[in-house]
Amino acid sequence: MSLSTKLETPVTGIYTQPTGLWIDNQWVEAIEKNSFEVINPATEEVICSVSEATDKDVEEAVSAARRAFEGCWRTTTPQQRGIHLTNLAQICEKNIDNLAAIECLESGKSISTAKEEIFAVIGCLRYYGGWADKIEGKTLDINPETLHYTRQEPLGVCGQIIPWNFPMLMLAFKIGPALATGNTVVVKTAEQTPLAALVFADYVKQAGFPPGVLNILSGSGKVAGAAISSHMGIDKVAFTGSTAVGRTIIKAAAMSNLKQVTLELGGKSPNIVFSDADIEQAVSWVNFGIYYNQGQCCCAGSRVYVQESVYDAFIEAFKKRAQAISVRDPFDAKTFQGPQVSQRQFDRIMGYIEEGKKSGATVKAGGKRQESKGYFIQPTIFSNVTADMKIMQEEIFGPVVAVAKFKTEEEVIKMSNDSPYGLAAGVHTKDLNTAIRVSNSLLSGTVWVNCYNMVHHQQPFGGYKQSGIGRELGEAALANYTQTKSVAICLSGALF
Ligand code: ADP
Repeated sequence: MSLSTKLETPVTGIYTQPTGLWIDNQWVEAIEKNSFEVINPATEEVICSVSEATDKDVEEAVSAARRAFEGCWRTTTPQQRGIHLTNLAQICEKNIDNLAAIECLESGKSISTAKEEIFAVIGCLRYYGGWADKIEGKTLDINPETLHYTRQEPLGVCGQIIPWNFPMLMLAFKIGPALATGNTVVVKTAEQTPLAALVFADYVKQAGFPPGVLNILSGSGKVAGAAISSHMGIDKVAFTGSTAVGRTIIKAAAMSNLKQVTLELGGKSPNIVFSDADIEQAVSWVNFGIYYNQGQCCCAGSRVYVQESVYDAFIEAFKKRAQAISVRDPFDAKTFQGPQVSQRQFDRIMGYIEEGKKSGATVKAGGKRQESKGYFIQPTIFSNVTADMKIMQEEIFGPVVAVAKFKTEEEVIKMSNDSPYGLAAGVHTKDLNTAIRVSNSLLSGTVWVNCYNMVHHQQPFGGYKQSGIGRELGEAALANYTQTKSVAICLSGALF
């Protein structure tokens, strides 16, 4: 199989798409010569085929990462590591249109959403580039005859398993803190969306990273993903994806070498509208909270609770808003919502829509497929949803929202917290005391007040309960990639 092919996007024209595996700063073919097809979700047509890594290729990538860790990266000065990361950010900035167009092509997200995502990638890489030379230990004043200090040292080789909903951003969330702190990395992208990351791989070398520091593999979860999570030579695995796969990964980590694990998993996030909220604004945020990125966000505000005195007015305004969403060609600059990422996701979401109808919830908007080709689904609102319905309990990961009424603050806190998940929540109110009281009572890793989806690289992000383990982003993410070494030096030689 060739290691590259020519592809075209409607906004950037013809470009060279690498299709091999990126190991040791080189393109290589998969050892078993396997490949898989990447599908354009807007047309259901094949875009191209890429090499598929098996456990043998994972082995090669881990060996390269280990050589790089021992040979140079752990001792590269923090300042130099930071320079490489900021170089990488700069190269992405120069190629923003290309990266965004490739993401749009393979994931179906709108070109405007893809571009925002690449901006966030650049911000994240720069941010962690800035952290590289600010990672400090402590000196501990224990005894005048001794010197005690701590160092924050890298873990070693990190495996990072990336989902398809934000292919480049999830990659940046993970490689940023890992590389800044002196680890080397083996990334496995999602099988639906390997292309932008492969184009990005070429920038790794251009940014000056030594061979083996960052290796990028395309491959399946069951083969390459499983090989990473159970590998004896990988010191840590970071994963974003479904709770079910998260469980498999932590099990594989436990059964192999007890590698460290961070997980960013599913959610069924509540978005609460109090009667004193600015209803127009709340509608905008609730709409953005669920339909952004085709509803394919782990933090999507998919359970909406509206206080009863404004329930009817809210539903009518929300319905108008949802029906006005442009669901069409993701390359059209005016498009907000493109197709779902795959046939599998499409079928899953349509299954939930049927389930909601059967369970007696009211379809207020949408509820159907849009277009006959491509995985497009109408923005869907179910009202009169009760707590026992599946559409109120399970993560749908699509443009489908369940809306219910509540009477009191106490009641809505109970409803909101009645979930195995705890990733994010929204609160809409003009009363500062209500905002603070409710935010403090919600069992979720993030609370957005009078807004939604305000994820930023400076602010930690992660889940309570079954939504995950550990925090990504912000200073907090550095802790996932360092271990504390305590050093004690006896100054006198014979203290006791
Ligand atoms: P989805 O079900 O929406 O495709 P997943 O959680 O399955 O989401 O996928 C997220 C990432 O996890 C992808 O990169 C996928 O290849 C990977 N993955 C899936 N199954 C496994 C597994 N058993 N072990 C490791 N990684 C996996």
